[in-house]
Amino acid sequence: MTLSIRALSVGRVFGLPKPSFTYLRGWGATVDIPLIMFVIEGGDAPVVVDTGADLSRAWDVHRIKMEQSADEQPDVALRSAGIDPDDVRLVVNTHLHWDHSSNNHLFPNARVVVQQSELDFARKPVMWHRRQFEALPDLSPAWQRAEDRISPVDGDTELAPGITLISLPGHTPGSQGVLVEAATRRYLIAGDCVYLYDSWEGDADADHIPAGIYTDLVAYEESLRKIETLGCEVIPSHDSRVLDRRIFA
Ligand SMILES: [Zn+2]
Repeated sequence: MTLSIRALSVGRVFGLPKPSFTYLRGWGATVDIPLIMFVIEGGDAPVVVDTGADLSRAWDVHRIKMEQSADEQPDVALRSAGIDPDDVRLVVNTHLHWDHSSNNHLFPNARVVVQQSELDFARKPVMWHRRQFEALPDLSPAWQRAEDRISPVDGDTELAPGITLISLPGHTPGSQGVLVEAATRRYLIAGDCVYLYDSWEGDADADHIPAGIYTDLVAYEESLRKIETLGCEVIPSHDSRVLDRRIFA
């Protein structure tokens, strides 16, 4: 059994303020970023990590400019990679922000794996983060479309041979990464703990740069230090270079 990771584009968002990605850095600048869904292949069944955003809510709910071509719809993107969404048995949400968890319902036979602490927070976020979780009056959050299939976990958890969930709180209370033992090396699908390659590489002032959106900066630093100990190559959540490379084997 040889595991590999495939990165699929499931949309793009435009004109976001740079400091929301790179903490206290890039004032006045905006960035365009891809939305990425990952599939871990080579095990008993494909495992999907993060399911992207809902195009219809991008502007109406989130005031974010988003594009999604027909072939970037998550189920279509999967089928073109030769994977039937019905065959997916496990979906992991790195966290429950709308742009990572809005299409869980497209996988009718999958258990959805989320940290319990994330589930608790998504149901009752601090008021400044309500929109990211769609915890708004008169709106049913998209992640709840598959709520009955959510199976919560607590902390680091082995999901399948060679696939381990790693608790990485900070960006949100229950953020998690997925550590994958592939043929040539070990990879971490880092979720929004690491947005961009530049976030991981840091700058003159800091070894790594957190996102500008977070719930606990102290926990965030501990999570980044934890990643350092894993002996892995980090795959960020929103870097277009991840899509250029596409396969991590
Ligand atoms: Zn996020």
